[in-house]
Amino acid sequence: MVHEAPAETQRVLIVGAGFAGLAMGITLKEAGIDEFTILEQADEVGGTWRDNRYPGCGCDVQSHLYSFSFEPNPRWSRMFARQEEILQYLVHCTDKYGLRPHIRFRTAVLDARFDEPTGLWEVRTRAGDVIRARVLVTGCGVLSRPSYPDIAGLSTFAGKTFHSADWDAAFPLEGRTVAVIGTGASAVQIIPSIAPKVARLAVYQRTPPWVLPKPDREIGAVEQALFARVPALQKALRRVIYWQREALVLGLAVEPRLMKIAEAVGRKYVEESVADPALRAKVLPTYAMGCKRIVPSNDYYGALQRENVEVVTEPIAEIRANGVLTRDGTERQADALVLATGFQAAEHVAPFELRGRAGARLDEVWRDGAEAYLGTTVSGFPNLFMMTGPNTLLGHSSMVFIIEAQARYVLSSIRAMRERRLKLVDVRADAQARYNERLQERLGKTVWASGCTSWYKTRSGKNTMLWPGFTFEYRLRTRRFEPRDYELVPAG
Ligand code: NAP
Repeated sequence: MVHEAPAETQRVLIVGAGFAGLAMGITLKEAGIDEFTILEQADEVGGTWRDNRYPGCGCDVQSHLYSFSFEPNPRWSRMFARQEEILQYLVHCTDKYGLRPHIRFRTAVLDARFDEPTGLWEVRTRAGDVIRARVLVTGCGVLSRPSYPDIAGLSTFAGKTFHSADWDAAFPLEGRTVAVIGTGASAVQIIPSIAPKVARLAVYQRTPPWVLPKPDREIGAVEQALFARVPALQKALRRVIYWQREALVLGLAVEPRLMKIAEAVGRKYVEESVADPALRAKVLPTYAMGCKRIVPSNDYYGALQRENVEVVTEPIAEIRANGVLTRDGTERQADALVLATGFQAAEHVAPFELRGRAGARLDEVWRDGAEAYLGTTVSGFPNLFMMTGPNTLLGHSSMVFIIEAQARYVLSSIRAMRERRLKLVDVRADAQARYNERLQERLGKTVWASGCTSWYKTRSGKNTMLWPGFTFEYRLRTRRFEPRDYELVPAG
């Protein structure tokens, strides 16, 4: 017998307690709105920074920028903090802003259905509870579902298999023969961290990343004390980092030919760092820099040149019980396989089954590629707001900036609903279509459309991930809820 507990009703229900869900919670709380609940499937906050624990895991955006504007942390121990420190920061924010009583841990959402007569979302948890909410905010992240490569024989591998996003720290790699598949942002951090420990390491590279030096360094106690005493200093540093990164948009999205300048820096970096011409040729990308995410690292090329490391560019034919066979017929033995093969991002973004008006399913509406209005609302799905929704991701700067802008936009929408006594707000299909037409037109002229494959794009080549311009433009456009873009249905 299926037993369902009687439904409770919430004003705002947030799914996920990562950067996005926490930002939403804090924004509501600071605005005096206390009637909200955050559902979190795990038993701690942190999202991607809780789940990704692979060796060397850290952020490739400087922490002074990759943190909330309203909660600067003067104690960052380095310019680019590592995973544990970022996770600690999120735990600190959760406690400082009193979010814990609002969070229901170990509560995974099964599905959500919009009920037109009441204008409420009905959210079912995996445990069978039903929660009704006037407003549903998803903060489930985009890079949360690991992508396992479609390689013949993967399941026959007899050794240990890891995905970068599901690292088993209890399995020691010391002295093992390891195969790493993939050379994206995760692999570039994993490889230098494990190379000195393992007996042998084969790196299976399909496409080399563009790597640039990383302006990382430790931040000493004196500097930390200075930031604590003079907050304006840290604010100024944040601004400098912000504008340095924003300048990259000129090359990525305004005039892609400018990327040639950065490419020259990348090429020089390879020439100076890699002694062997054969290896140099292997690791030097042939696509435009920025088309795939640029990866900063000071130790990646060094790791690839270690005696015990080999870069294999021959395509993988199959995985066998004891190793990896490449198409040239060579089998390299391995006792551990590290899949640094990324996430299922662009093809399907609905985090769980979402049914809007007339029972329409979001994954069906998004069959040909996800789209939303301002990356936040979707026509036919009233009172639903998505954090880090379609085309809000960045190739150059801090997602926390976008998340804060979105949280303010959602707050502004909730306020408008309250002031106008609205049962539902539903973005107009024509407003959404016009917005996306212009967005795709702009994306077509960017470096991301210059001919590489990446997780930014669907199989048919539509970029459903990235914001096409400067981040301040996004912030300006999401400054407040515009009623004329929405169908507004008053309460009873
Ligand atoms: P990714 O960038 O999607 O890289 C996946 C890698 O696996 C690519 O090199 C890809 O090659 C390779 N690959 C996939 N399937 C394969 C197959 N069947 N055979 C051989 N190779 C295969 O994933 P990621 O490195 O996890 O990074 C994802 C995103 O997470 C990043 O772009 C970034 O936004 C974020 N991230 C950030 C950081 C940071 O801040 N430092 C760290 C990690 C992740 P192809 O290029 O040929 O497809």
